[in-house]
Amino acid sequence: MSSVSPNSRSSDHVYWDQLVETQSRAGWEDLKLRLLQDHLAHAYLNSPYYRASFDAAGVHPSQVKTLDDIRYFPFLTKHILRERQLARPPFGDIVAVPERDIVYISASSGSTGVPTASPFTGQDFEDWMDYEARQFWSSGLRPEDRYCHSLNFSLFVGGPCVLGAQKLGALSIHAGTVPSERLLTIISQFQATAIWTTPSYAWYLGETALKQGIDPKKDLNIQRIFVAGEPGGSIPETRQRIESLWGAKVYDYYGLSDIFGSCAGMCEAQDGLHWAEDHILVEVLDPRTSEPVAEGERGELVLTTLKKSARPMVRFRTGDIVSFTTEPCSCGRTSIRLKGVHGRLDDMLIIKGVNVFPSDVEAIARKDHDFSGEYKLIVERVNHLDVLTIDVERSVAFTGSDEELATRFKGHLYSVTGVAATVRILPPDTLPRETHKAKRVEDRRNGVWS
Ligand SMILES: [Zn+2]
Repeated sequence: MSSVSPNSRSSDHVYWDQLVETQSRAGWEDLKLRLLQDHLAHAYLNSPYYRASFDAAGVHPSQVKTLDDIRYFPFLTKHILRERQLARPPFGDIVAVPERDIVYISASSGSTGVPTASPFTGQDFEDWMDYEARQFWSSGLRPEDRYCHSLNFSLFVGGPCVLGAQKLGALSIHAGTVPSERLLTIISQFQATAIWTTPSYAWYLGETALKQGIDPKKDLNIQRIFVAGEPGGSIPETRQRIESLWGAKVYDYYGLSDIFGSCAGMCEAQDGLHWAEDHILVEVLDPRTSEPVAEGERGELVLTTLKKSARPMVRFRTGDIVSFTTEPCSCGRTSIRLKGVHGRLDDMLIIKGVNVFPSDVEAIARKDHDFSGEYKLIVERVNHLDVLTIDVERSVAFTGSDEELATRFKGHLYSVTGVAATVRILPPDTLPRETHKAKRVEDRRNGVWS
């Protein structure tokens, strides 16, 4: 596969693709418009879903004359992705290529536990890896580096990002998610210079090393830590704590299962995340009015792919509350920068980088009649790791053991979400149920969404 073919750039090149990365804002706008027009036409011609949805909205790709014209097209939501996938298994009718052209899928669980698959053609995958390599290069990774990829490989869109480091020419260590002791051994044995994990895990791993008598600053060789999956990487205080623990720089990345492993990432200036503008069109909208907000203001991130042909995503509502800037960056790159993910529209929780919805818990608590159906989630940060505790009530009729009931609940939760939790069984009528707005999530982590 050419995505891992040798890279011939000299390591002192500042840019991976200077022409693209440093073009004028007008250049970006022209490029995006051209790509958008072609991509919408492809979606309309080849995806039964888009043809029906554009027709129903009375819009046609040929009407797009400026980037602002995207506003006339209908939104796409996670709910629609799931519905269309269930209606036309296995990948749904949003897909716009024959299945024989699909070479890779990632998948994410979402609120009902039904994984939605994100398909890629060979070209989509190549485009992603080229972007991934460009992003790594902007963060200072070079062919001389030894890069340790410590993300999950199982259907997770972050898994293949390791091939971006390989395309760049770095020695790429496909570590995956292994126990901390094993990971520290790998980092130490191969003298890795860079690693990718979640922010909380980077912190935990550093402290684990210290407990074993290894000082990450002195005894290990990590110079760059890439983080994603949690807001911490864009919270300066968190980033600085991790940096001082490791004696390394921390670069925040933003990815989305339904699009790319990384849609944006920090350059060496570490001032916001440069966006992949030649792959994804960004809108930031007021979640109530769906009108664009002014630059720098917070709004919901709404994304339209510009090249990903297997399953075009048109106006996908991410539910992430973000802000952007078009100010020039000191690195010379001209792409817009994500100033951070400030929160979520819904009450989704991210536990150790895995998405957990209260509705997952509700579904389990209400499906099994040995439970009353009432529940509460408590999220805490213990030793820098997110810990989930779930309180559930046994039903009045249940006469078995609480321990067995808790084990059963934990098993269901793990099979649906992949998250391990402490489950406490309470007597019936213990949890508050006074109104339909009962607070079912107690987030005791400080500053996670700051
Ligand atoms: Zn920059």
